[in-house]
Amino acid sequence: MGFNDHTDEEFNDFLNQLIDMGHLEDAALGITKLVISKGEGLLSEKQRYVFKKEVLEPYTKAACDRCSSSIPWSEMYDAATEHGLCNYCWHVTSKDD
Ligand SMILES: [Zn+2]
Repeated sequence: MGFNDHTDEEFNDFLNQLIDMGHLEDAALGITKLVISKGEGLLSEKQRYVFKKEVLEPYTKAACDRCSSSIPWSEMYDAATEHGLCNYCWHVTSKDD
């Protein structure tokens, strides 16, 4: 999944989740709030670099560890911070029920 082929709403929900959970601070926090309110297109080159290095790279995954499917933004937070899997694989591998 490229970083631009997402719906803004799901992407913004994901960014809000990072903020709510306290993952971001300083420049990364300010830039992420800017992206939520104005969109990525408004970032300067330097801000875009910080956003990529401190937000996207640490907190997103290109693909599920198990099936290599791309992970939708709605599932990205759990995949990147918890189990590394898409929702489907997570349910398959966690046999609680
Ligand atoms: Zn998967």
